Amino acid sequence: MTRKSVTEDAQEVFRAIALIELGARMQVLESELSISRDRLIRLYRELRGVSPPKGMLPFSADWYMPWLPNIHASLFFNTYLFLRKEASCSHLDALTKGYKLYLEHCTRTDAEPVLDLTRAWTLVRFFEAEMLQLTPCCRCTGKFVAHKHDLQKGVVCGACQPPSRAGKTRKAAARAAVQAFAEVTHEEVIEPIIDPIEAVDAVNEVAAFQAA
Ligand SMILES: [Zn+2]
Repeated sequence: MTRKSVTEDAQEVFRAIALIELGARMQVLESELSISRDRLIRLYRELRGVSPPKGMLPFSADWYMPWLPNIHASLFFNTYLFLRKEASCSHLDALTKGYKLYLEHCTRTDAEPVLDLTRAWTLVRFFEAEMLQLTPCCRCTGKFVAHKHDLQKGVVCGACQPPSRAGKTRKAAARAAVQAFAEVTHEEVIEPIIDPIEAVDAVNEVAAFQAA
């Protein structure tokens, strides 16, 4: 086994801290980092004051399909992809930064966060395993999370067509989440990380995900 340098080790610990503070479960930490389980548990206890929770991770892709989780999952995943492709972030950086941006915008737009970090991480895994795909909405042209072999044409997203049982507050929350996505791509992500001129195409692509 090659030994990590002290700097590499410190970087791993900082990554672990960021993930734990965002609510990561042990399974997420163990699969993303090369820190021993014992050290991760100690770190977890130091930061959160309790032992990490036991139990299985969520494993069903169906969780992301009802309209409100779907809007939140789509918001997060579009941000994640943007950070990966346009800002050249590593998977772990895109997960952490993308999730922070997701939370920030939920707070700013008074939308209650629906996706926790573990769900966000599992979502990315489902995409990697090709169980999910992004499908364009035929009204707003935003791309939303769908099962891999679902119809790709003539489909309307949850933000454009909330179910009638959804109350005003929930509809407003859905709009807020979609609005958040537009804000993420316009203000927070593009300017500090990459040259706005280079980002024009990317903006056009992702900014389509707005309320109709
Ligand atoms: Zn739509």
